[in-house]
Amino acid sequence: TLALQDAQREGSVWRVYNPAQHTELGLEQALSHALAQGEFELHYQPVIDDVAGKVVSVEALLRWHSIQHGPQSPAVFIPLLERSGLIVQVGDWVLHEACRAAARWGDVRVAVNLSARQFASGDLIDTVRRALTASGLPPQQLDLEITESLMMQNPARTADLLGRLRAMGVGVLLDDFGTGYSSLSYIHHFPLTGVKIDREFVRQLDTETRARGQVIIRAVVQICGDLGLKVVAEGIETPAQRAVLREMGVSQMQGFLFARPTPGWTPRSPG
Ligand code: C2E
Ligand code: MG
Ligand code: MG
Ligand code: MG
Repeated sequence: TLALQDAQREGSVWRVYNPAQHTELGLEQALSHALAQGEFELHYQPVIDDVAGKVVSVEALLRWHSIQHGPQSPAVFIPLLERSGLIVQVGDWVLHEACRAAARWGDVRVAVNLSARQFASGDLIDTVRRALTASGLPPQQLDLEITESLMMQNPARTADLLGRLRAMGVGVLLDDFGTGYSSLSYIHHFPLTGVKIDREFVRQLDTETRARGQVIIRAVVQICGDLGLKVVAEGIETPAQRAVLREMGVSQMQGFLFARPTPGWTPRSPG
């Protein structure tokens, strides 16, 4: 809302004051030195195998507590990191930090989210290799999570890079599956190891749109079974969702029902 009384005089130039834009600029500026000031932290949220009753992997989730602006939601600052290109440097830190933590856990996999800018940076393979070497984490214990929009931005290049990561032994999961523009019939074009069903479909299992959610999840389970891909469901919050997923043959689950993201996760922590 650009009200007249919001107009500010800057030198001799009148410009309209936009509070939202002002905040974003402040945050972007703070982000540019957040890494150097140690304002980032990783929280970890387990994925459990509900049939085996154990933690199979742990996802690293970036947190930012700005000294100047306080704690910020990933939904706000991750798009800013992407737009400014800082995500490449910060993503490098996330990879190193997550691999370092996971190397201490023993048998548990760690999953790291990647953004499109990291794929475009030309340095991704080296970055991953360096993070593995520095931490001593076996490549077989690392999963990278990518989104459909990342995949579709440059399908040929993405397929090539994913192939090289797979050749190293690293796993690749398609995150937030079902929210993007790719189709189920398209996923076999990419060397994926698994798919994470977006929590929107899991949420639908609890509502009057339950039938719709079930149709989608059944189709994903069927196709992933045929392609030999693992299926993870994210955002499980209720025992009912868990029960329906189990009934549909989904055993790997992640959600607040089991554990919230926490700092300093260890194999002995609850959940
Ligand atoms: P995502 O990779 O799909 O991660 C799952 C998000 O769902 C996380 O939000 C997690 O806290 C939340 N979540 C987990 N279980 C539940 C549940 O039962 N209910 C609800 N309502 N939410 C649940 P978070 O941590 O806010 O992260 C949001 C997104 O930011 C992530 O979505 C991911 O796309 C991105 N992100 C986080 N860390 C990184 C990172 O290091 N690099 C990049 N490129 N993106 C990241
Ligand atoms: Mg993820
Ligand atoms: Mg997700
Ligand atoms: Mg999601």
